[in-house]
Amino acid sequence: RAKREGPGRSTMFDTSMHDQARQRIELEVALRQALGQNQLHVVYQPLVRLETGMPVGAEALVRWEHPERGSIPPGLFIPIAEDSGLISQIGGFVRAEALRQLGEWRAQGIVSDSFYMSVNVSPRQLNEPELPLVISGELARYNVPPQCVALEMTESVMVDGSSVTAQVLFELRQLGAKLLVDDFGTGFSSLGYLRRFPVTGVKIDRSFVTGLGKNEQDDEIVRAVVAMSHALGLFVIAEGVETPLQRDALFHLGVVNGQGWLWGKAVPPGEFAEHWHLAATLPDVPPIAAVTEN
Ligand code: C2E
Ligand code: MG
Ligand code: MG
Ligand code: MG
Repeated sequence: RAKREGPGRSTMFDTSMHDQARQRIELEVALRQALGQNQLHVVYQPLVRLETGMPVGAEALVRWEHPERGSIPPGLFIPIAEDSGLISQIGGFVRAEALRQLGEWRAQGIVSDSFYMSVNVSPRQLNEPELPLVISGELARYNVPPQCVALEMTESVMVDGSSVTAQVLFELRQLGAKLLVDDFGTGFSSLGYLRRFPVTGVKIDRSFVTGLGKNEQDDEIVRAVVAMSHALGLFVIAEGVETPLQRDALFHLGVVNGQGWLWGKAVPPGEFAEHWHLAATLPDVPPIAAVTEN
């Protein structure tokens, strides 16, 4: 039995191959039960306009609360879900729940008409030909317009994707959903992929945001991503924004939207509605600083 320690640490002491394999199998077995036993939950992190700190949308993120092990981080179980195929069920649960929640918030006037829900989709889900039909059914059911849903995929989808995946992406785009490339810059995609696939935007990976305002190379990378994205008519959002310095640097580099602990972490729906409803008091974050010429 795993000892209960910090999140995800519990079984990480032993790094021998045998124990790793064993831990994986144990987690997979537990994950299979998690869905049926209501151990999976969806939390929501605000996506904001950098300039104002006002929410423009939310990213839905899955959480696993195991009755004995406590909370298990997605970084640990999502790869297992992907390898075992469980990701289709888990991803489907998260998406349906997030769209249901968005429909409720829209009906209650908690969010604006243009507020969008961003959901992660794994390569496996994008290889299922029925996905566009399933999503359009959910949109109708929850009374959510297609432009209010964004699907986040990794660059690997464009690099390794099958012809089924290409077809699914085109149908999703035709439906009117936004298609975002998540963790942009960490994979092996190129300008060519962004032109060939019907993506609508990129999420600049946190690793390029961390050093902004301090590391000139990161500033140059973000500058290049913004220039390229604008040339292709793509929307840009930066993830992992933790400090006003990073936010200001992004703003002056031409990035309009961001996500990060500076504004808020992912929280359960009740808390999200309370803190981020239309009339909410915004977090106490200093205004954008003027550019300092050197
Ligand atoms: P992601 O899609 O890139 O999500 C952003 C991650 O960065 C989230 O981690 C979020 O909590 C974290 N984050 C946001 N702002 C900050 C910040 O300012 N600083 C730092 N240090 N971190 C920040 P989380 O929730 O642990 O999720 C990790 C990854 O697991 C996600 O990365 C995504 O790839 C995957 N994931 C989560 N939920 C789902 C899901 O429903 N389906 C699929 N396929 N993958 C999911
Ligand atoms: Mg994401
Ligand atoms: Mg991301
Ligand atoms: Mg990321």
